[in-house]
Amino acid sequence: MKNYKLVNNCRLCNSKKLRTVFDLGKSPLANSLVIKKKLKKKEEIYPLRINFCENCKHVQLTHSVSAKKMFNNYLYLTNTSEQNRAHFKKYAHEVSKKFKNYNSSILDIGSNDGTFLSFFNKKNFFRVGIDPAKNLAKFTKKIGIRQFPIFFTKKNSEIIKKKIGGFDIITANHVCAHVTNLSDFFNGVKNLLNENGVFIFEVSYLADVIKKKTFDTIYHEHSDYHSLKPLIKFVKKFDLEIFDFKLVDAQGGSIRVYVSNKGKKVINSKKIFKQITSENKKYKLFAPQTYIRFQKEVNQIGTKLKILLKKIKKKNYKIAAYGAAAKTTTFMNYFKIDKNLIEFIVDDNKLKQNKFAPFTHIPILNSKEIYKKKVHFVIILAWNYSDHIIKKHRLFLKKKGKFIIPFPKIKVIR
Ligand SMILES: [Zn+2]
Repeated sequence: MKNYKLVNNCRLCNSKKLRTVFDLGKSPLANSLVIKKKLKKKEEIYPLRINFCENCKHVQLTHSVSAKKMFNNYLYLTNTSEQNRAHFKKYAHEVSKKFKNYNSSILDIGSNDGTFLSFFNKKNFFRVGIDPAKNLAKFTKKIGIRQFPIFFTKKNSEIIKKKIGGFDIITANHVCAHVTNLSDFFNGVKNLLNENGVFIFEVSYLADVIKKKTFDTIYHEHSDYHSLKPLIKFVKKFDLEIFDFKLVDAQGGSIRVYVSNKGKKVINSKKIFKQITSENKKYKLFAPQTYIRFQKEVNQIGTKLKILLKKIKKKNYKIAAYGAAAKTTTFMNYFKIDKNLIEFIVDDNKLKQNKFAPFTHIPILNSKEIYKKKVHFVIILAWNYSDHIIKKHRLFLKKKGKFIIPFPKIKVIR
């Protein structure tokens, strides 16, 4: 059975007027790290391409991979990234303050290890999570949060409604882009949202992808690359309305969108109009040429980077990489950076250590190994965290090690 299929209709407006504007070839699933005893097993790779909808201007993947393949055992824990924790803490406090008059029940969709919910005071909030990754429920149970280990769908929203009822606040952070059927997902939200409730979701923001050249956030788990204009039209289908938004730094640049039932909140029209103008005129998000040009720019940096790595290798210096994040998979596979160039990858997430990167099979180790194995160069593939990583490993620089930051412009830090 084929585990993926071509998407024929726009995920937001259902139009068939889709045009491929960025082609990353074929790539393995970004989070499918390999354990030692499965190294010999053949891995599946899937087409990774971007479509632009000529009708509503939404940017999305050309193919969808079976969700079960991607999310049943999820290795990414919100809690393991200090920056993520700080972001979610601030976010939870903002939401608690902004909507304090109806703080009673909150449902977090894609609740992961419960980090976000844990920042809502349990005295004021009845907190519920839902996340299909079965390995995560044990984390939330420990902190007293009930978590349903199922996908969020319209059908499953009925189960929750029967058991618990509706919610005053529903959140979904960096989840929407993972959802196979977005309309069904929004039908589920509509079903569970109390009359005066708010639905708040955060997604990676397309303008940031273009501005910061974060092409490596393109992988199969991210079906969509959102901008405000197509979303405004989309939510109307469910009798919902976007009344506000906020641009935030999370995940290399994201947009937090505030949604209510139609006519229930004052819409911040001026701010929204200004942002859409900027999406159109400043970032040119609604023109297909933008993405074609984007791929050319990415290719230029990739070519330069490979020349640099090969030069270093020729001098018999050792190179390691920092960060076995999902984006690393896109990065390595698109630029064809393999074991010949990189000896190993280090990652601070223990669950990833002693596994192997998808397809390239580069080993993933504890960050102590850059000292033990006397590496000369470390290329930071989690480049959105480079400041943090460099600060944490000042010792590496003291020992004459050098960091390479590949994007948005190649930089060598000594
Ligand atoms: Zn569309």
